[in-house]
Amino acid sequence: MRLPIYLDHAATTPCDPRVVEAMLPCFTENFGNPGSRNHGFGWRAEEVVDLAREQVASLLGADRKEIIFTSGSTESNNLAIKGGAYMYARAPQGSAGRGHIISCAIEHKAVLDPCKRLQKEGFDVTLLEPPRDGIVTREMVERELRDDTILVTIMWANNEMGTINEVPEIGALCHDRGIVFHTDATQWVGKMPTDVNRDNVDLLSLSGHKIYGPKGVGALYVRRRKPRIRVQAISEGGGQERGFRSGTLNVPGIVGLGAACEICQREMDAERERLLTLRRRLEEGITSRLDTTQINGDRDRRLPNIANISYGFVEGESLMMALKEIAMSSGSACTSASLEPSYVLKAIGIGDDLAHSSLRMSLGRWTTQQEIDYAIDATVRAVSKLRELSPLYDMHKEGIDITKIEWQAH
Ligand SMILES: *Cc1c(COP(=O)(O)O)cnc(C)c1O
Repeated sequence: MRLPIYLDHAATTPCDPRVVEAMLPCFTENFGNPGSRNHGFGWRAEEVVDLAREQVASLLGADRKEIIFTSGSTESNNLAIKGGAYMYARAPQGSAGRGHIISCAIEHKAVLDPCKRLQKEGFDVTLLEPPRDGIVTREMVERELRDDTILVTIMWANNEMGTINEVPEIGALCHDRGIVFHTDATQWVGKMPTDVNRDNVDLLSLSGHKIYGPKGVGALYVRRRKPRIRVQAISEGGGQERGFRSGTLNVPGIVGLGAACEICQREMDAERERLLTLRRRLEEGITSRLDTTQINGDRDRRLPNIANISYGFVEGESLMMALKEIAMSSGSACTSASLEPSYVLKAIGIGDDLAHSSLRMSLGRWTTQQEIDYAIDATVRAVSKLRELSPLYDMHKEGIDITKIEWQAH
């Protein structure tokens, strides 16, 4: 076993060597522009892009005409949410506003920030706050629906806790009411079976680098029938991707994304079981040997590869420092540069203290049982050691309820 151990696959994954293999010819030999319609260089590039489109569509149960290649989930989310809102906006009449959008407080920033932007531009945005289990349900969405609701955007699985939202049910609800439904499926796709028709999804974002493909490439699924969904282009130019997303196609990236999707589809069932077994071993190993710990998010409705654990009386950043040989994260990669506790954990009602003492370990394709056992031992040792230095933990052990202590103001 080699150190350090990588347990941060929710932040990014290594490229599968089979993906790199598929990409390589696109840099040098098959370098043409798929937009060049009048020579073989262009045709050959178009051929491999078509294959990739088919591979992505197949993983989603979609048609290849419904796949728009982008630079990743951030761009896909922006295109779906802003492009969808502009397309379905209501004409501003008096004070009625431009339309109502429903999302939730535990979304990735790549959803929350476009929503914030739309709010500034005159749309009404409702952010649902899921309870402690972290699950967004159909009922929660239904309660907030209005006559002027034009778009619902709810992530399929949460990137910090791995919790799985009621996406097929929310999609059915939206379809009943004629409302466009988008899901950020970045963490879900490739790990869990997906069928955009069965699951009632209109718009779906996915990203290459979260599924063992390259960085800087992703896709947006846009439903073409029952009903046909349209989004307004955000970037304009050469009219590629049926005008939805101009710009010369990133052929190597797209080919890599396609190969990554095909591998995920083929290996999904076995990989899911393997990861679930390892994640349970990790969670049980840690929580059975350490008191005052808690697993965040619903027990069962979670992705097989994400474990988010709070360690009472330990500061998350200190714990990470003590566990330098394990790459993991507190909060998400995007916010872990700051020392703010996770806004996701806070949104589901976990107090600042416990949110501060939470760490996410996310497993991946090459995670071994040996690595998990090492992570368990190292975590138990580090937490125990940090707690030895904690007077609060001593008091807790003596049965003093520290929430009742009145601290002196400073
Ligand atoms: C990583 C991630 C994103 C951002 O994807 P990029 O391809 O890096 O832009 C968006 N949403 C979720 C849930 C993610 O995990």
